[in-house]
Parts: sequence; structure tokens; C-alpha cells
Amino acid sequence: MVSGFHFRGDGAGRHRVPPVMCGNCGTDRYLIIRSVTDMPAQPPEVVLVSYTCSRCGTFDEHPAQAVDLNQVLARPEQAADVLILGSNYMHCRQPMEQAGSELRKLSVPVSTEEGAKDALGVYLSTRVLRCDCGFQMELPE
Ligand SMILES: [Zn+2]
Ligand SMILES: [Zn+2]
Repeated sequence: MVSGFHFRGDGAGRHRVPPVMCGNCGTDRYLIIRSVTDMPAQPPEVVLVSYTCSRCGTFDEHPAQAVDLNQVLARPEQAADVLILGSNYMHCRQPMEQAGSELRKLSVPVSTEEGAKDALGVYLSTRVLRCDCGFQMELPE
């Protein structure tokens, strides 16, 4: 009599948070994880996750089990993405190390009308984060 009601097999004793999946497509296969944030009021295994489904474009954000999230992140197509976990930037599912600061000079054309002969030098201080795999990124400070 209860057949046909699909339930995620191992969900019985868990906290009542929605699974990390596209409610429209009914799968986590196409998800692009946008951010992961600590939820201080929740147990540590519950995080606030936001994601987009690359198949149908649905955006969702809700508390989720870190276990569910890790299942999605374990997919090979997620490996290149940078995650924000609280104040940490994650790559290869580990926090990235701060590798130093850089001063970047950006050349900004003052005007596109009067011939761009004057370029304004803008210095931008950035924070360099590096992952064990060699990936690094720069963030404005
Ligand atoms: Zn979808
Ligand atoms: Zn990495």
C-alpha cells in the first residue's frame, strides 16, 4: 500500500532538513554548489548551502546535512569549484592557505572618447590563497 512513495533510504534518524538536490529535476547530478555557510544555531553537521541546478536553472538555499553535501561534492565535476565555508575558502574539500599579499596594478582607461592615451594606474591590494593542489586565487582585501 505504501509502495510508490519514494524516500531516501538512509534518512530515517536524521535531522529534518531537505536533501541537497534539485527539487525540479529530483536529482543532485547537475548541481553547482554556490556557497556553504556555518549555521551557529544548528548542530555542526548542519550547514546552510546554496546551489544552482545547471540543467533547469533552479536556485535553492536551505539548511542541509553536511553528509548530503559531501556526497554531491564527491562528484568529479565538483572538484574545480571553490567553496566558501564560513570565512574559509575551500578547494579540493580542504581550506585554502593564505600564501601572501600582492599589489596589483590595474590600468584603467580614463576615457574611451578622447583616445585612451591617459591610463590611470590603480593599485589593488589582494590576498593570495593557495591550495595543496597548486590552485590559487586572489581576493581583494
Ligand atoms: Zn534542475
Ligand atoms: Zn585544490
